[in-house]
Amino acid sequence: MPKIVRVSWDIVEIPQRVVFETARSKTSVSRAIIVKLKSDNGLIGRGEATPVEYVTGETEQTVQRDLAAMDEALRGQDVSAWRTVCATVRERLPESHTACAGLEIAAVDLFCQIHGLSMAQFFGGRKGSVVSDLTIPIVAPGLAFDLAREAAETYRHLKIKVGGPNRDEDLERVRQIHLGAPEAKLRIDANQGFEPEEAVEFVRKMNALGVSPEIVEQPVQKADIEGLRYVKENVPEPVLADEAAVNPRSVLKLLKLEAVDGVNIKLMKAGFTGALDIISMCQAAGKKLMIGCMLESPVGIGAGVHIACGTGAFDYLDLDGDVLGEPTGMEQNYTRSGETLSV
Ligand SMILES: [Mg+2]
Repeated sequence: MPKIVRVSWDIVEIPQRVVFETARSKTSVSRAIIVKLKSDNGLIGRGEATPVEYVTGETEQTVQRDLAAMDEALRGQDVSAWRTVCATVRERLPESHTACAGLEIAAVDLFCQIHGLSMAQFFGGRKGSVVSDLTIPIVAPGLAFDLAREAAETYRHLKIKVGGPNRDEDLERVRQIHLGAPEAKLRIDANQGFEPEEAVEFVRKMNALGVSPEIVEQPVQKADIEGLRYVKENVPEPVLADEAAVNPRSVLKLLKLEAVDGVNIKLMKAGFTGALDIISMCQAAGKKLMIGCMLESPVGIGAGVHIACGTGAFDYLDLDGDVLGEPTGMEQNYTRSGETLSV
């Protein structure tokens, strides 16, 4: 069986179409780290390890350090023993969620190439396509209206970043997006920007505008599990954790404390092995599942599309990193037709 001979990576700069501002970050050019695992029969598995420091604590520098360290550790490993490859990575890099994710995606991609499968088939082949939302970042309400009107031609679901510096402007952004896209279902993501009572108040004000958000994502600080539960108990809409749900261990804690109605899994947090565990845990607990993304390249988005199609497990999809950025011209393992992503 083919063996791994080399770990390497490239950095790809992706200018964003609109400066991507959330309650926690502002990005005009994202820098994607593309992980490559080469086998001794000349194939190259590709993954992505694009870090967001406030979520996992990792940076471009730490990811590159970790990938360099794994070059020697993975050499000679059997590609077909993909779980062993992932276990080696997890043991050596226990705190490096994003670096592990990139290596896991590359390992599974390489395994699938060798065995003549798509990753969606590898994950179970449940669906051929899935539907994603589009995110509207923290922008002035007038621009939000224009973006929403344009998006409404293509997307039935829009995700709105809130929790910005001004609460009235947050609400006005939601109102303008509703005016610009009256038929669209709206999701809100505060990226930890609200206090618990403020979040409940905000959802009530949205309701008063005639808008019931499809989901309320990470309204409060990630460490404030009680605050999350308070919001969950006081709004009728599903409350999902994102930053508070980094890996299976943190999801287990949220489930034990009945703090959320579901979680937003991102491969840059959980990798493939973590995502599979979280899917099982949430399904057993009857919780909702969302798959999201960072500002990733088509490599990371493709991995998300394949696990979403293969498992058929997700209630909500937010895989839009590839359209928020300018086209990269990179090779893709999925196709996009508007809001529909197919394998
Ligand atoms: Mg989020």
